Amino acid sequence: MDNFIVSARKYRPTTFDTVIGQPSITTTLKNAIKNNHLAQAFLFCGPRGVGKTTCARILAKTINCKNISENIEACDQCESCTSFNTSHSFNIHELDAASNNHVDDIRNLIEQVRIAPQVGKYSIYIIDEVHMLSMQAFNAFLKTLEEPPSYAIFILATTSKQKIIPTILSRCQIFDFSRIRVEDIANHLENVAKKESINTETEALHVIAQKADGSLRDALSIFDQMVSFGETEVTYNNVIENLNILDYDYYFRAVNAILEKDIRDSLLLFDDILKNGFDGHNYITGLSEHLRNLLVCKDEETLQLLPAGGKIREKYKEQADKCSTDLLLSALSISNTCDIAYNASVSKRLHIELGLMQLCSIRSIQENTSEPARINNPAKQENSENSDEDPDKLENKAEKNAEEPSATYKIQEPLKEKEVPPSKSDNPEVLEEKPKEKDKTELEEENKEDIHSTKKESIEEEPTTVKYSPKTKSLKDFVKPSDEPWKKSGKAPEENLGNESNEAITQSDLERVWTEYAEIIHKTGKHSLYSTLTKRIPILNENNQVELIIENSVQNKELIAESEALHEYLRSHLPSSSISVITTIETKETKRKPYTSLEKFKRMAEKNPSIDKFRQQFDLDLD
Ligand SMILES: [Zn+2]
Repeated sequence: MDNFIVSARKYRPTTFDTVIGQPSITTTLKNAIKNNHLAQAFLFCGPRGVGKTTCARILAKTINCKNISENIEACDQCESCTSFNTSHSFNIHELDAASNNHVDDIRNLIEQVRIAPQVGKYSIYIIDEVHMLSMQAFNAFLKTLEEPPSYAIFILATTSKQKIIPTILSRCQIFDFSRIRVEDIANHLENVAKKESINTETEALHVIAQKADGSLRDALSIFDQMVSFGETEVTYNNVIENLNILDYDYYFRAVNAILEKDIRDSLLLFDDILKNGFDGHNYITGLSEHLRNLLVCKDEETLQLLPAGGKIREKYKEQADKCSTDLLLSALSISNTCDIAYNASVSKRLHIELGLMQLCSIRSIQENTSEPARINNPAKQENSENSDEDPDKLENKAEKNAEEPSATYKIQEPLKEKEVPPSKSDNPEVLEEKPKEKDKTELEEENKEDIHSTKKESIEEEPTTVKYSPKTKSLKDFVKPSDEPWKKSGKAPEENLGNESNEAITQSDLERVWTEYAEIIHKTGKHSLYSTLTKRIPILNENNQVELIIENSVQNKELIAESEALHEYLRSHLPSSSISVITTIETKETKRKPYTSLEKFKRMAEKNPSIDKFRQQFDLDLD
């Protein structure tokens, strides 16, 4: 290896067809040559090492070739071509604007432009890193660029197109070079390795290609580095060791821990990674990328987006099969949040560990959506408790709530009554129970406005629990369970009343008798009570329980006073002696139109619970 030539130079493409990863650009250039529509000024933009200078040189060589092939490639044999190949051509002039950015450098170039080429048709001027030119140099160059001699072609190359002044941009034909795909780079490396008789592992080449981040030149120099390290072979282990890359294997193990809900394993793995000198942030971004890769494996169409080859590709597919899309999306969301917040966290290690614990808890949460989620979802927990029909729990709940002197408490009483079928059938206690809490009621009704504001406040304080808490149970919720019995007019109630000695009554019977009674009240001059009785239709629930929705505690008081007479009348005019009337105070929310965005959200979430799930998953605030 006396005359070692770096692979990037040794294997620099010399024809359009061998340029890697820029097919649209080479095709356009070839067509321009074929149709003799060549512009006089080009601007090649794109990241470093993607083939800008290479294409410029190929273009220069091809248009000067005396026997251009049908495929619009240089013949490689004519005088011009050979001089190009030995880098002795006088038709090509390269200027590195990064180190020659003065106005004098450009003036020298302009002097040269005046001289027509002795051999070949065109003189090509390549100005690399053209954005580095000083303003004066740019201005000095403008005139020449605008009216170049017919034999002169300018190719400006830059990595920062945005730094080029518009007057230059408008005079150039612009070609945007794209980053080269990992797959293309890996293939090219493999070809080079074959020519150099070097054994390579596909995974190793993929890792190099990924590390090069779209730059073929960088990939080739890493490759050279690896070759000199491993002599005649490039192995995956050598590469990850030398490039300080975290082994894929760690990520596979991390995802396995997530799948197995194994927090312990996940934390130990992370510890191991830190001990090996890797950065925590690096790990979490790598994990995000790994999750993303698993996600693209889920679909044949997106499989091409997987930047891995060989055995690792298979490994990805295998693990992707074990993960649900839901799981991957949730995991990505968590790892991404962890990534973003990393720099702001004081205890970085703890920060990542928390993220890992959350990741390992995803499956528990997903599997037990109906059960309390212990990790980060107090709202759900409450929900599941409420949905539980266990009377004991409801009792406890009510007791807990009784401690807070809130107007909302009263509403829960009737709810409790409703869900727990009354054991004593013939008592008007339900209504008469009310006076027990009257002391509280009296205090509150003195200041009704305050009550409403309290209600509102308490709801805004705990937005996530709102949907599930009994205090906001909508009217519909009350009506629904009782829908069936009276709609099936007569049939169902009979069944329901199985062990009752009373006959079934129907909703329409109830409404008729109720209206009669209301009329009597009307005649006695109790207008307020009359309107309370008639404002809403009473609802017949199971076990001949009649529910009336009222608006406030004043109405409740009125009804309590009237309770005995009302029960008396209903029992004597309907064929059931077990009729009992309960009242439910409607909360403000149930009749108010959603106004604030929070209310609108709640209403939407009521209709479609997955909206709230989404909100929790992405940790969105409701402001
Ligand atoms: Zn030629």
